[in-house]
Amino acid sequence: MNAIVDLPQDHLNKSGKNIPIYKERGQREVFCGLTGIIWLHRKIQDAFFLVVGSRTCAHLVQSAAGVMIFAEPRFATAIIDDRDLAGLADAHEELDRVVKALLARRPDIKMLFLVGSCPSEVIKLDLSRAAQRLSKEFVSKCRILSYSGSGIETTFTQGEDACLASLINDTPKQVAAKDKNLLIVGCLPDVVEDQFKRLFTELGIENVSFFPPKNSQQSIEIHGNTQYLLAQPFLAETARLIEERGAKRIAAPFPFGIEGTTAWLKAAAHLWGITSEHFEGVTQGKIERAKKSLARYLPALENKTISFFPDSQLEIPLARFLSRECGMRVLEIGTPYLHKQHLECELDLLPEGSKIVEGQDLERQLDRCRADQPDIVVCGLGLANPLEAEGITTKWSIELVFSPVHGYEQAADLAELFARPLNRSMKLAA
Ligand code: SF4
Repeated sequence: MNAIVDLPQDHLNKSGKNIPIYKERGQREVFCGLTGIIWLHRKIQDAFFLVVGSRTCAHLVQSAAGVMIFAEPRFATAIIDDRDLAGLADAHEELDRVVKALLARRPDIKMLFLVGSCPSEVIKLDLSRAAQRLSKEFVSKCRILSYSGSGIETTFTQGEDACLASLINDTPKQVAAKDKNLLIVGCLPDVVEDQFKRLFTELGIENVSFFPPKNSQQSIEIHGNTQYLLAQPFLAETARLIEERGAKRIAAPFPFGIEGTTAWLKAAAHLWGITSEHFEGVTQGKIERAKKSLARYLPALENKTISFFPDSQLEIPLARFLSRECGMRVLEIGTPYLHKQHLECELDLLPEGSKIVEGQDLERQLDRCRADQPDIVVCGLGLANPLEAEGITTKWSIELVFSPVHGYEQAADLAELFARPLNRSMKLAA
């Protein structure tokens, strides 16, 4: 396989710092977009995710879910078998049968996502057509949407982007001018959403809503007077569709760590004309508390080296947090995809000379990692075991998406996610 390593494109950020961005193309080692179902099904509480895929897809979703046993699970796989692959069965008819049986048995499902996979793409099963056809039949009972979680098209966090984009496409366009509102975009655990809601209220920012909503019946307000803040850095398509409806993105770093959270809140506060005195009055106590909690983990992290393998697209904001607030030295920041506009404020905060590699050529990256010998590597599950066997401490990037890590109250928890494996390795070595 050809591997291409471009010369770095020097990215001069706003503060004039030089951040070289290398591009690699080659073998990738990432999860597919089906993984997003694990946090999406917890968030949208009356939705069901039906993967149209193979037994491999079913195993992936089940093992990513930690082999949870539910009385009434909210995700499943309609298995494409040999007859479907050989073209002996009409896959559309089969799918209609499965969906009808599911909705007859589970009238509590108010929104059904048909999730495409590699096999459904290979047999060219048009799930958007199936969703339209079934929507007509179940109109007023259940909204039926589709998106692709296939590994051919998506890395694991892009599954959320594809899902949210399908939700936007299914939301009626609002043409009439409405009052100014703030939309927070990206899945957040309920506990974090509630904390941010309280913070916006204390700041005096009214009319705040979160997308995706907890309930499929909740209306989503997007119009020319909508300002939106991204809570996750991997929502390129969702952001594009939101902007197509006239909403404007508030440029800010992402709310990871104390500094990121403060800058994220401040960017919205500024637009709402909140005074700095009031902003500080609301945030100061929370910042002090967060700093105190974070301090517990700093001895384990300071001056330790870290490298990121490209996986979740959270790598750049996390590298910024770990270097600026935890004193770590970041050797390499791999990211599957770099959206320069969305990450501009983050790039601005990275230390001078930080090395970013966009894309992946696995073998070359492993060689660099072995040469660098970082104290800890952030990578996907598939790489963690082999690296651990070579004596390199790892952190699973998927855990950083599952766990509540945004906001002031989670800043210390986020640091702990890195401190824990480092402490464990130190104890083992001792
Ligand atoms: Fe299914 Fe493709 Fe994901 Fe494998 S990579 S689990 S075949 S969607």
